[in-house]
Amino acid sequence: MGGDDRRVLIAGGGPVGLLCALLLARRGVTVRVFDANPGLRDDPRAATTHPATLELLGEAGLVDDMARVGLVAPIFQFWDRPSGEKVAEFDHALLVDDTRYPFVIQCEQFKTARLILDRLKWFANAEVLFGHEAVGVEQTDGDVTVTVRGPEGIARHSGAYLIGADGGRSTVRKEAGISFDGFTWPERFIVLTTKFDFERERGYCPRSYFADPEQWCNCFKVAADGPPGLWRTVFPADADTAEAELTSDKAVEARLQKFFPSPRRFEVVHRNLYVTHQRVAARFRAGRVLLAGDAAHVNNPIGGMGLNGGIQDACNLANKLALVLDGAPDGLLDLYDAQRRTVALEFVQSQSIANKRLLEERDAKIRAQNLAALRETAADPKRARDFLLRSSMIAMQRRAASITLETASS
Ligand SMILES: Cc1cc2nc3c(=O)[nH]c(=O)nc-3n(C[C@H](O)[C@H](O)[C@H](O)COP(=O)(O)OP(=O)(O)OC[C@H]3O[C@@H](n4cnc5c(N)ncnc54)[C@H](O)[C@@H]3O)c2cc1C
Repeated sequence: MGGDDRRVLIAGGGPVGLLCALLLARRGVTVRVFDANPGLRDDPRAATTHPATLELLGEAGLVDDMARVGLVAPIFQFWDRPSGEKVAEFDHALLVDDTRYPFVIQCEQFKTARLILDRLKWFANAEVLFGHEAVGVEQTDGDVTVTVRGPEGIARHSGAYLIGADGGRSTVRKEAGISFDGFTWPERFIVLTTKFDFERERGYCPRSYFADPEQWCNCFKVAADGPPGLWRTVFPADADTAEAELTSDKAVEARLQKFFPSPRRFEVVHRNLYVTHQRVAARFRAGRVLLAGDAAHVNNPIGGMGLNGGIQDACNLANKLALVLDGAPDGLLDLYDAQRRTVALEFVQSQSIANKRLLEERDAKIRAQNLAALRETAADPKRARDFLLRSSMIAMQRRAASITLETASS
């Protein structure tokens, strides 16, 4: 193999690909990142960063800056929208003995990606090429080659390993022949970002979930460019209605008024429609190709677990890859697959589906039972702590750490 035979190639310069690059560069590994987009993407997706993820980002020295540009939110609430009752409130303070970070940080993902990219610039062994799309992958016993289409045309780049962090439609995953098993929700999710201050006007906290048999909603505050911040509302949107119709001024105002009646018009600064899937790659490793982040797993955003899982992948993978490049057995990369794929299935898929079912339940009896159970959980500190260990993804990280190659294959 020509050049640096310890070089790691990374397709995808979203938060997950960039974090893989930073963590590897810090360990002295030469990395080259390709991203198809001309620069960082800035659409309003992930914001909630959970305690388990903050633990990892703290080790990478990112948490203080995320808190500075984001919002620290220790509490989240569940509301019954039809009755207007606050059903449950959970305070991460109950996790004070479990984490250094008993809160989430609401930090928009483009800000997290920007903080990582800024740090990557300190490393001469790291290169980030925007406007470069990975279009093909080949591997031999000794190396992996990615074909990239950039401004100067097509070029081939070789390295020791390739990380596919190129999002849900991952070219790397497809080129490696890895299936993406699961399903697609029939409804789409619409995200409406507004200046309406739900905390001041309605008393909702910066992370509020609304159960409603007709139309559930998540309502979150983000810092945006500084006080007073913005609020993102997420709703299910009809599968058969055209995007232009769903996102028209009239439809957007009607949706928000139906949900949160107000004498004033809502000022909506972003409107985005997403197709949402629950899928996990059949393998996170195919020889010298490794998958991480949305390339490896996607889920609905209720509970805010997608990017968190991706960041946890990046930390797990970068650590093992650095050890393998220093001579450790490459079976460690199978352990990456075993640990991260297991928890993607056991925790993120099941939890995000359960979160959606809880909010959208239509059967009046089951709905009442679910909300009563939530109320009781929040009222009992021991049960509330167990609930928070799951929602904050600490239980998931503990489970991942307990998996060995022996237990994974048994
Ligand atoms: C409405 C919404 C709200 C969400 N909220 C949360 C939340 O609160 N918390 C949470 O944890 N998660 C949340 N998520 C999920 C989160 O946005 C994703 O999990 C996250 O973006 C995954 O990061 P990634 O780096 O793996 O992929 P992406 O962010 O998709 O980045 C992939 C990158 O790869 C590049 N790329 C694609 N194809 C190629 C190619 N062939 N060659 C080179 N580059 C390529 C793209 O340009 C992109 O920059 C939410 C998602 C949505 C839709």
